[in-house]
Formats: sequence, C-alpha cells, structure tokens
Amino acid sequence: MPKLTMRPILNLSISWLSSTVPGALLIVMLWAGIAVKYMDNRQSDIAGAQRDNENFALLFEENVLRSIGEMDKALLYLRRLIESTNGPIDFHSAVGTTDILSELIVQVAIIDERGIMRASNVGPQPAPPTDLSDREHFLFHLTNASDRLFISKPLIGRASGKWSVQLTRRFKKPDGSLGGVVVASFNPEHFTKFYGRIDLGLGAAFTLVGTDGVVRATGGDTETEHGLGKDLRGTELMARVGAGVNGSYVDAVSMPGAPRLSAVRRVAGHPLAVSVSVSKRAVLNDSQANLLSTVFAGLGLSAMIAAVTWRARKSELTVKRNSRQLRLTLAHMSQGIMMVMQDMSIPVMNAKCAELLDLPAKFISAPPRFDELMTYLEQRGEFSKTALPDNLGLLEYYGPKDAVGQFELYERVRPDGTVLEVRSARLDDGGFVRTFSDVTRRRHAQLEANRLASEDVLTGLANRRVLSETVDELIASHRNKADGKFAILCLDLDRFKAVNDTHGHAAGDRLLQAVAQRLREMLRSSDVIARIGGDEFAVLIATADQLSTVEAVASRIVEALSRPYEIDGHQILIGASVGIALGPVDGETTNDLLIAADLALYSAKAAGRGTYRFFDRKMNEEIKERRQIETDLREAISDGKLELHYQPIINLKRNTISGFEALARWTHPVSGPIPPDKFIPIAEDSGLILPLGEWALQEACRQAAKWPDEMSVAVNLSPLQFASPGLALMVERILEETKLAPHRLELEITEGLLMRNTQATIETLHGLKKIGLRIAMDDFGTGYSSLSYLQSFPFDRIKVDRSFVAQLGEERTSSTVVRAIVDIAASRGMHTTAEGVETEEQRATLAGLGCDEAQGYLLGRPVPIAKVAAVIAMWKMRDQNAA
Ligand code: C2E
Ligand code: CA
Ligand code: CA
Repeated sequence: MPKLTMRPILNLSISWLSSTVPGALLIVMLWAGIAVKYMDNRQSDIAGAQRDNENFALLFEENVLRSIGEMDKALLYLRRLIESTNGPIDFHSAVGTTDILSELIVQVAIIDERGIMRASNVGPQPAPPTDLSDREHFLFHLTNASDRLFISKPLIGRASGKWSVQLTRRFKKPDGSLGGVVVASFNPEHFTKFYGRIDLGLGAAFTLVGTDGVVRATGGDTETEHGLGKDLRGTELMARVGAGVNGSYVDAVSMPGAPRLSAVRRVAGHPLAVSVSVSKRAVLNDSQANLLSTVFAGLGLSAMIAAVTWRARKSELTVKRNSRQLRLTLAHMSQGIMMVMQDMSIPVMNAKCAELLDLPAKFISAPPRFDELMTYLEQRGEFSKTALPDNLGLLEYYGPKDAVGQFELYERVRPDGTVLEVRSARLDDGGFVRTFSDVTRRRHAQLEANRLASEDVLTGLANRRVLSETVDELIASHRNKADGKFAILCLDLDRFKAVNDTHGHAAGDRLLQAVAQRLREMLRSSDVIARIGGDEFAVLIATADQLSTVEAVASRIVEALSRPYEIDGHQILIGASVGIALGPVDGETTNDLLIAADLALYSAKAAGRGTYRFFDRKMNEEIKERRQIETDLREAISDGKLELHYQPIINLKRNTISGFEALARWTHPVSGPIPPDKFIPIAEDSGLILPLGEWALQEACRQAAKWPDEMSVAVNLSPLQFASPGLALMVERILEETKLAPHRLELEITEGLLMRNTQATIETLHGLKKIGLRIAMDDFGTGYSSLSYLQSFPFDRIKVDRSFVAQLGEERTSSTVVRAIVDIAASRGMHTTAEGVETEEQRATLAGLGCDEAQGYLLGRPVPIAKVAAVIAMWKMRDQNAA
C-alpha cells in the first residue's frame, strides 16, 4: 500500500526539518538582515546627505544675505552722501570715502544719468570716459523707477578686467528725477570660497543663481554644468526656484551620467536662490563597500552555520569544533552578533560584540548566561536597573517585542557616548538573534552638520539667522504677556578696519575670534551671541527685566573688549561701542528691533565711541517699580501671603485626570493680582526664588499627599535652585515630612538650566531621579537647541510649549513640529504633555498625534486648593459615566 511506503519518508523529513530549522532560520535571518541593513544604510545615507544639503543651503543663504546686506549698506551710505550734498558733487572724493570700502567690494563707482562712469575707486577715469549706458544695471534703473537693489549677471568688468557681479541702486536729483546709479562690484568667488573651510567631500557643489536662471557664483565641484554665467533656464533647479519650493531632489542633468542629490533654497528678499549638491554615487560609496564586505562575511557565516547545523547530529565533539570555527568567522564580522536561546544560554557571541559592549575577553570564549550578562551590564551602569514587571520574564523584557520573522531596531547611547544600533529578531523557539553596529560617526556627523548650519564659521558664534529666529520666537512669546523684556545689544568694534589694513586679514580674523572668545567667557550661556557682520556682533539677553543688569552687561562688554589683545606677537588695541534695544517695547518685528539697536549703536559711536546707549531711555521709573515689587515680594514670602493654584493634567488616551501642576499666585495688597510671569523673574533676579521655590514644593507635596494615590503633582523648579547646594537633600526631606510617595512628584525644569550643561547639573538631576521622582522638561521647543539637550539626560517627560499648541489648526505644517517632538520623545521612552490646550480641535489633534497628556484652559484652569477636590470628583464622574 502506498501509505506504508510514505510514512518513513515523512518521518525522516520531519526530524530532519526540526534539527535544521534553527540553522536555516539563522541563515535566512542573516541574509534578510544584510539586505535590510544595506537598504537601510542606503536610505539613511541619502536622507542624511539631503538633510546636510538642506542645512548647508540654509548656511549658504545666510552668508549671501549677510554679504549683500553689508554691500548694500555701503551703497546706501554713498547714496545718502550724494543726495544730501547741496550744489555740485565731488564724485571722486565720494567714492574715496574709506568707510564704504569693505573686504567684499572690489570696486565702487558712480554712473551719471547718461550712463557715463564719473568716478571709481580703482583709479582715475580714462580720457574718453567709460560709457556704461548699455549695461544691464544702468538700463534697469533707467527704465525702472522703483527703489530696488539690483543684482547683475556676472560679467568681465570693463575697468577691472575681472569677473564681477554688480550691485546697484539709483540716486535722485533734488527734483526727484534719476541722478545716476551707484555701483558696488564684488568678486563672485567670495560667496563660495568660504566653503573651502567645510570639508563636505562627496564632490559637493555650491551654486548661487538668479531667478532669471543665470548663475551668479559657483564653487566646489567645478565639473557640474553650473558654471559662472551659465543659463540654467529649463532645468529642474529653475523649475523649483520658480515654484518657490525649498527642498531636496535628485538632479540628473547638471552632471550627465552622474546623478546628484541636490537641495535648493530661495534667498529671502532677493531674486536669488542657492543650491547645494553632492554626488549620489559618492554618498552611497560607503554603504556599497560595506555591502561587499558584509556579503563575504555573510557567505562564510552561512557556510559555517550550514556545516554546524549539518554536523550537529553527528556528535557533540564535532559541534564544539565547528562552533570554534564559527566563532573565528564571527570574529571577522564588522557587526557584533549574539544569539540567545530560550534557556538563556548564549551559544554565539563574537569578538566584535564583546568589543562594542565593552565586555571582558573571557565572555567571547565562554559567554555567560543572558541573565548574568544583563546583571553585569546593569551593575556597570549601562542602563538603570529596572524592576521587571511581575508577569514578564527576562527574555520577554529585554528581548525583541516583535513577532518571529520581524526585526526590531533601536539605538542605544552607551555611557561613554558611543551610539549602538541594535537589531533583533525573534526565533520561533523563544530565543533571539541580536546584532550591534557602531553608528556613532553617523550620529556625530549629523550633529555637526546641524551645528554648522547655525554657526558663524569664523568664530563659532551664532549667525544672523539664528539670532533673527530667536528674536522672532521671543517676540511671539511676549505677544500675550503684559510685561517681560529682552534686550538686543549690537556691538561694533572701533578701529577694526585699521587692524585689517595694517596687520592683514589673517590677523583680523584672529582678532575677531579673540573678541568672540571674550564675549563667550563673559556672558551667560543662556544669552545668544552672534556675529552679524564683518566686525559687528550682537548679544541677545532673553530676560532683561532688570534694566540695571543690561546696563551692567553692556559696560562689561565695552570694558572687556577694550583690553589689549595679543595677536601674532603684536599688541592690538581696539574699542567697542554698544547700542541696546529692548524688546518688545522698542520694535514690533525683529527687523525693527535690530534697527533700533543699530540706531542706538550709532548714537553710542557719535558720543565718542567706547560706550553704550539705549535706544530710548525711559527706564528710571521702571527700575523704581521693580525695586518696589521686589521689596513687597520679600515681605509676601515671609508673611506666607503667596498661594498655589492647581491646574489639572489630563491623560488624553484614557480621558482621565492624572494630576495637577502647582502654579504660584500672588495678590498684591495695593496693585491686586500680579502674574507669575512678572514676579517669578524678579524673584529669580533677586534670589527670592530660593525661599519661594522651597515653599512651593513643601506646600504642593503637603496637599498632594491628601489626593488619591494615583494622582501626581508637578512643581516648577528654577535654574537658580539648582545652583544652590543640597537641592536633592531638601527634596528628600520634604517628601519625608509630607509623606508623599516620591513617584507622585514631578519636577519641571526649563532648558535654561541645561544650557549650562555642566557635569554638576547632570549629577544633581541623576541624584533627584534616584530619589524616585520624575523629571520633566518644561516649555520644550522655545529655546533653540532643545533637541540637543535630550541627549544629555533621560527625562521622563517633555512638555510641549503652548506656542506650538496655539499654532495647531492654523497651518497644516505646524502639526509636524508637534508630531516630531512626540516621536522623538516616544523613541526615547519619554512621555509628552501638551500645554495651553484651549480648543477641542487642538485636543483632538494632539490625541491623534499620540501625545500622552494635556493641560490647558479647555481641560481646566488653575484653581485654588479649595476647589481641587471638586475638580477630581468631576473627572471621576465623567470617567464612570463613560464606563
Ligand atoms: P509654566 O510652567 O509654563 O506654566 C504654565 C502656564 O501656562 C501657567 O501660567 C498657566 O496658567 C498657563 N496656562 C495653562 N493653560 C493655559 C491655556 O490654555 N492658555 C494659556 N494662554 N495659558 C495657559 P502662569 O500660572 O501665569 O505661570 C507662568 C510661569 O511662571 C510658569 O510657566 C512658570 O514658568 C512660572 N511659575 C509659576 N509658578 C512657579 C513656581 O512655583 N516656581 C517657579 N520656579 N516658576 C513658577
Ligand atoms: Ca511648568
Ligand atoms: Ca510650560
């Protein structure tokens, strides 16, 4: 009977299967891993290059804006000089004014209303005067009455004989008709030579192109078709410029046969665009080379696994010998690999694995059990010891969570800063295979690119773009406040030009670096210091309510910058003048404020240099008022006249109340309620925040201890409290006195604290966490390097600032910021709370984005303690009704 003959065959194949399945699975996993890793590498290399390109395009735009602004200033100056002259104008002495010369400008010239060049700073005019009436820039102003800055196509200068681009402006006669044109010519190379300092590699190319399609400047890889003066109309680049979309694309034409990854960006306010591109092949070089070596290793490994599996049935001896050979092969892989079995044994662990995890050598030859390994790593502080949830075993807890056949991927930052990419795949017998790759360099390269895009290359200070953005944010955040100021200090070095002329540009550069260093040493790290022009700097003080503090800072700056410098063996003396504008009172926009500070700077210079001036000085009363508030606040604190109000925090997923944030309230006996935005800064300036903060913590914990067990309380902590020793001890004492379980307390800190990012701060934070309480980062996103602070400490929670929440629903794009914050937080195991939720639409959007909790007027305003019980009861009732 056929059945009889079939049975043994079936049996054989089943038993054969059962012994080879783990091996085959391992091989399949290995190759799937190699393939996924390769695709992933490719994709992340491309994404990384595109992100870099976009960052560099931003930087490039910033540089273009700054240079054009500086040259335009010279033109405006020259024009004012001409227009304000009564009677006949001496054009020669006008162009000879040294003030208008800058390192950027090759030539300054004046053309009269007939198009004849009347004066140039490069020398006397030739006998038949140069006729420029056919030149594009002259024709533009002849036919166009608007007062616009014109940027010409690049051409060979008739007087200089060199490539140049002209910036021109018209000037008027007293009767208003065209008097002529002032011209500043610059060398287009200026825009791109500065990229020589950044080693982008990858055949990077930089292009500055007009919206008319003509290339104004080019640099980097010269093989591209984007040469100086080339007409790029009809290319994808110009299509994107025309459509006004900033972003990345793959450019197949600029270098035939070699596609490039390209980013394009419109230059704000000018008919120009910048583009940065790198060769796609060069970007992918690494992952390709990697693939090859991985494939070889994979082949060897597969063969070994197959052999091991095959011989496994023969005898244990053979297995041992083979697994030794397997280890040898494993030893040459560029990734760490480890296989964990259901019984927690680790049959496979290669040397790279031990190296990446920094394990002792004996672990390779005789791997410990998985539970022993975890205990070992925990004890070394690799990750904080977490009590295992009751129903979970060690394998379920630390192993991959995904189903068999799927990969789980995460990154882990080791205590020494190494970033490991960890990839795990579950085996169907309950064990898993895990690989480790060192991706530290990739991560650092990304951070570096981000840093470059917001930095002045010479001094490492912030650039004008960062300054403007920060001021924009400050203006937005002050819009709804009654009080609160910030200060912009514009500083200009006196006699800098003379240093440049006598000692050369290199010495000038070093002097600028020394100035930057002095500013850095003197100012707080929470202040933004920017270089906004050749020898112009700006300092932004985000909280400047105490005008006397601003005055003190300004005079310290003048004093510090006027001390002698030692450059190349020379003693150099310069001075500094400072102009101060106060936001938001001195201007409604960033530009207004910068102009105000600039005007104040002029008046400081007019007053004889080496001094500072406020844009408008009406401050005596304000200083007096603040002194009064300070005195009254001190009294209120010692008399126990302050109060705490409590704002409910709602869990968006369950729609239940999870706790309250405690917020200080003060009712002044005469002036009535004073908002915390007004008195907290005064308390911080005067040190009163220490007793105030301690009282708030004590009071909030005392009250919270009476609430239901699952309810927590959040208390705000000022950076100043961190500076005072014994903070952790104080918190511990208060928790003990009030009998509040530590996990019910959450402390909110702002990134102002982390900007100092000293070891001491981080240690204090860890000390607080050890007590068992939670730490939240408040007002996330309002500072300008929030993201980088997430690396420095494992926060439990991120509070998304209400400025982001307020934008929700206004524009489509705004939710991407919140989504990004929620995603970043989730990937690091942090929770998110959205602040300032005022509408149902915002609540729904936030819930949809996966935000954990929310707080805001929609869900409940801060209430006095007497009403807290009622708020809790109301939410409990809702919960029951819902259930
Ligand atoms: P914060 O920590 O960001 O507190 C949230 C602020 O948002 C509170 O302002 C709250 O009343 C307000 N708020 C809540 N929901 C909404 C909403 O839907 N819309 C709007 N527009 N605002 C909402 P408050 O109470 O005026 O406090 C202002 C700031 O003063 C706090 O900002 C915090 O930084 C500080 N502060 C308050 N109490 C203390 C304290 O005890 N210690 C310290 N160091 N700072 C405190
Ligand atoms: Ca807060
Ligand atoms: Ca906040």
